Amino acid sequence: VKRGPGNRVLRYTPALSTAEAERRRLERELREAVEGSGLSLHYQPQFQLPSRQLTGYEALVRWNNPRLGPVSPASFIPIAEETGVIVELGYWVLREACRQAAAWKFAGRCLSMAVNVSVRQFEQPDFVERVVQALHGVGLPGSQLVLELTESLVLHDKDLANRHIMALRAHGIRIAIDDFGTGYSSLSLLRQLPFEQLKIDRSFIQDFAGETQAISFQEARVVMEGVTAIARGLGLHVTAEGVETEEQLQLLSDLGCDKVQGFLLGRPVPAAEAEVWLPEIGG
Ligand code: C2E
Ligand code: CA
Ligand code: CA
Ligand code: CA
Repeated sequence: VKRGPGNRVLRYTPALSTAEAERRRLERELREAVEGSGLSLHYQPQFQLPSRQLTGYEALVRWNNPRLGPVSPASFIPIAEETGVIVELGYWVLREACRQAAAWKFAGRCLSMAVNVSVRQFEQPDFVERVVQALHGVGLPGSQLVLELTESLVLHDKDLANRHIMALRAHGIRIAIDDFGTGYSSLSLLRQLPFEQLKIDRSFIQDFAGETQAISFQEARVVMEGVTAIARGLGLHVTAEGVETEEQLQLLSDLGCDKVQGFLLGRPVPAAEAEVWLPEIGG
């Protein structure tokens, strides 16, 4: 029962209850997808600058809902976050991405695999243990795994985060701060936690092309120069995401950005298609 102003009992409007019922249904279906085999991964290539050599992939989860067809992560990840399903979803993605990276390694291609991790998953007490288990399960070295933590989500316990990052680093696993610049505490986060890489959010890269009206091209460039200078000063490796034009790629290269990822160089695709970027192995 919902109460309005003056403690009057409000009745749910049919539209609201329909939306709520649909959300519960989605939540249940998502849970089933995680437990069954309803999820899959796409892999988006990442390239070194200025050589443009392939360095690895980011694993991105996909959900083909039997009733609705493909559902965008932008709509189901928030539901997974709210309901806690994100924890098991995250481990499924981690295991599957490690399995694929190990298969490519076995075929002679030693590449990094970046996996997105929700803060809610990262803050589980046994997080490090389960990550190490996923690596051991398929025989993948920690040095091939990069965990991307989104900065727009709030870390509740800085001490725990620090302990987890140090323990992961001891296994050779690298930690990137994802969507850098979109949260409220970008700079203070960098001071407080021992990240090794940062990934500049797509919105900053898109300002270059004048696609957003918020700031001028010149101002966008100043922001990017500042971010890359700070990263360099702190010894952090910088990846730019959402690179869609040659112009953006050139500017990022001039600024000394280490790695790029975006539709210009490769969209997220299933593993079999992602193999087109893999270098030929001699013999
Ligand atoms: P993200 O981690 O920032 O991932 C990059 C998103 O940008 C992906 O969308 C990718 O398809 C898209 N993208 C890549 N290059 C370009 C480009 O050049 N232009 C444009 N316009 N977009 C580009 P996607 O796959 O829809 O994922 C959206 C978000 O969902 C991700 O953002 C991430 O926050 C979340 N997500 C995806 N997979 C997982 C997962 O396995 N676990 C968790 N926790 N979150 C995930
Ligand atoms: Ca990411
Ligand atoms: Ca990102
Ligand atoms: Ca982003």
